[in-house]
Amino acid sequence: MSLPCRSIVDLGELVQALSVPDRERFERIFRVNSTVGELRAPDSMHEWIKKYFGSVEAVQRQRIVKVTNLITLEGALFNELRASRPMEARAGSDLLQTILSNVGDPFCQPLEGTPEDVFGRVQGKHCLTASNVAKCDTFHGLVIANEHNPLVFSAEGIRDYLDTALKWARKAHNVDKEARYFFFLWNCLWKSGASILHGHTQMTLGRGIHYAKVESLRRAALLYRIGHGANYFEDLYTVHKALGLTVDYQTARLLAYITPIKEKEVLLISERPDDHLKHAIYKVLQCFVERLGVTSFNLALYMRPIDSVPEDWSGFPVVVRVVDRGDPHNKTADFGAMELYGNSVISSNPFQVADALRGLFAEG
Ligand SMILES: [Zn+2]
Repeated sequence: MSLPCRSIVDLGELVQALSVPDRERFERIFRVNSTVGELRAPDSMHEWIKKYFGSVEAVQRQRIVKVTNLITLEGALFNELRASRPMEARAGSDLLQTILSNVGDPFCQPLEGTPEDVFGRVQGKHCLTASNVAKCDTFHGLVIANEHNPLVFSAEGIRDYLDTALKWARKAHNVDKEARYFFFLWNCLWKSGASILHGHTQMTLGRGIHYAKVESLRRAALLYRIGHGANYFEDLYTVHKALGLTVDYQTARLLAYITPIKEKEVLLISERPDDHLKHAIYKVLQCFVERLGVTSFNLALYMRPIDSVPEDWSGFPVVVRVVDRGDPHNKTADFGAMELYGNSVISSNPFQVADALRGLFAEG
């Protein structure tokens, strides 16, 4: 029925099979280096290796692919051994137990348990804003979901969280016209950095310059346009589409990114933060939680400043990034020195992520 999923470690060959224009576009943005790592395992290890990796041969010769985004200088290392492992998993009942045992936290009664911003609160249908107690910027707010369990969300709810956050940004901007750089983020469960378990997202409105990673992406895209006379985000999408790594939903474009920051990273690109994009975000999170067994994730939304600024943001779309942060009950952190200072080491296969997304979107 369905074709076997392609592997990211075959990326070099898959790129060679592209049409010349697609290959040229790919090579403008990415460099792929394929290699093989070999080892010799003592007999005493064979049983253990078979149990975890299927066969001794699979471990003795491992194909590895290093993918570098030459425009943004993001880099990923994929190992066949890791990438070939199945991704399906489900949230265990002990996780649900932990979540439910926290009912009654300050976010369950936000009017008593949280402060409000100097301009008050924004009331959504499924949420209420609060001011963050320990701020990371002049304006740093929270969208507190009515629903305690962060893994229980609806399409309407997610649209409401974003609409409420954007309303909050306009209120903040009315208080301080210099604050123009909006940033929306969602840390879900402690593995992702969330200190409160109750479902909530965060937003900031900053002054002067956007956050370094967003500004870096703006500059990279600007240099790309100067160098190649093309929109970086358009080309990034086209390259992923040629490889079968995209899904379109109305005006929103989704791609299983080949230089992900960590596991299963999906990028959503849209001209505006419109309802199509909000629905697509919901579908991606639904896919993560229901199909790919994700329980802890980070989401960030980049967009143009909400008022005029001196620097050039033309051609910069709304970009949403969503990444799996691993099993909340695993004590080992998913980010090590490699991820912080070298390249991200990735176990998931972007082709599998794209297949899962396509499957869910095809169901409507
Ligand atoms: Zn709660």
